[in-house]
Amino acid sequence: MNKLDAQRQKEIQQAEELLFAGPQALRFAKGRFQGHFVSDWVMPYPRIPAAQQIELNDALTELRKFLDEHLDPAEIDRQADIPRSVIDGLGRTGVLGMTAPKEYGGRGFSQMANCKVLEEIGSRCASTSVFVNAHHSIGIRALLLFGTHEQKQKWLPKLVTGEQLGAFALTEKEAGSDAANVQMQARPSEDGSHFILNGEKRYITNAAIAHELTVMARTPVPGSDKTAVTAFLVTPDMAGFEMLEERMPKMGIRGTATGRFALRDVKVPKENVLGPLGKGLKVALTVLDFGRTTFGACCTGAAKTCLELAIQHANTRKQFNKTLGNLRRLGILSRSSAGANDA
Ligand SMILES: Cc1cc2nc3c(=O)[nH]c(=O)nc-3n(C[C@H](O)[C@H](O)[C@H](O)COP(=O)(O)OP(=O)(O)OC[C@H]3O[C@@H](n4cnc5c(N)ncnc54)[C@H](O)[C@@H]3O)c2cc1C
Repeated sequence: MNKLDAQRQKEIQQAEELLFAGPQALRFAKGRFQGHFVSDWVMPYPRIPAAQQIELNDALTELRKFLDEHLDPAEIDRQADIPRSVIDGLGRTGVLGMTAPKEYGGRGFSQMANCKVLEEIGSRCASTSVFVNAHHSIGIRALLLFGTHEQKQKWLPKLVTGEQLGAFALTEKEAGSDAANVQMQARPSEDGSHFILNGEKRYITNAAIAHELTVMARTPVPGSDKTAVTAFLVTPDMAGFEMLEERMPKMGIRGTATGRFALRDVKVPKENVLGPLGKGLKVALTVLDFGRTTFGACCTGAAKTCLELAIQHANTRKQFNKTLGNLRRLGILSRSSAGANDA
């Protein structure tokens, strides 16, 4: 097989890996490609149902009070650490399990309501919002979406309160944008009771502070010499789990613990496989889809704060006896404030 054919074969295999064998539901974007415009799903802009809005308002009031009193973003940035007291408080206010079902101790909020919560946190501290995202939006998301009832019952109660923290580990040296190129191997044991994991992960938010990590590794495809990605629940107390770098230095969001770790012959029980064997890439990309919406909400919050601060400065700082906003070149900034804040 020449190089081009091999590459094409690899891409076909990845595409097949991404598709579950079950029937494919119609989605808005897919519908457009197929000539369907499913307007009900996007127009009018989805609103939070009235009953949930009341619950959301209460949650936001409680959260704002906590953040006003206990969150110091400048100190978090200086110390490059989020204090445990802040994490505990986020747990108490329900933030660490907002969308988890109530039966597992979560708040049962919709993804949209959770975006409002993360926008609030993102408007105050980027590190804290990324920490919450890594724990909730991607860390425990695979468990929420693909976990069995037994797995959820076992793992979620402590994770939704913040007593334990979660992380999501896909990225490796050779698997960045090319997420399908995961090299970490998961070999089944002879008696089939567990998998033996080997490889390294990097750029993993919360890796050094997490008690549960959703780890992507390659498992053999039965009856062939191929491998496919599978998701595993890994805990740092498993023998062979080695933290290589707890906090990789960063220029921004310095408060988050972005880590690098290795798994060396780590035995992971077969009960810790998350979702179907060999469908881990689909698990990972679905999880990331959820993360993207809440990460986006954090950025919207941060952007609104930046805009407000810029406007405030332009309206108070005086030079040449005029506020900056009244100097001709900058006037546009303060005048456009009302419209821009609608974002
Ligand atoms: C602060 C931080 C936290 C992170 N947290 C996590 C985490 O919790 N879990 C986790 O699994 N990962 C995490 N990551 C990893 C992150 O998902 C990867 O950094 C990301 O997937 C990009 O991979 P890369 O850095 O290797 O960049 P590369 O893949 O090397 O890309 C470099 C540049 O090339 C561009 N590029 C790549 N391929 C193409 C292409 N085909 N066409 C055009 N342009 C292309 C990219 O857009 C990018 O601009 C984190 C990263 C950071 C920086």
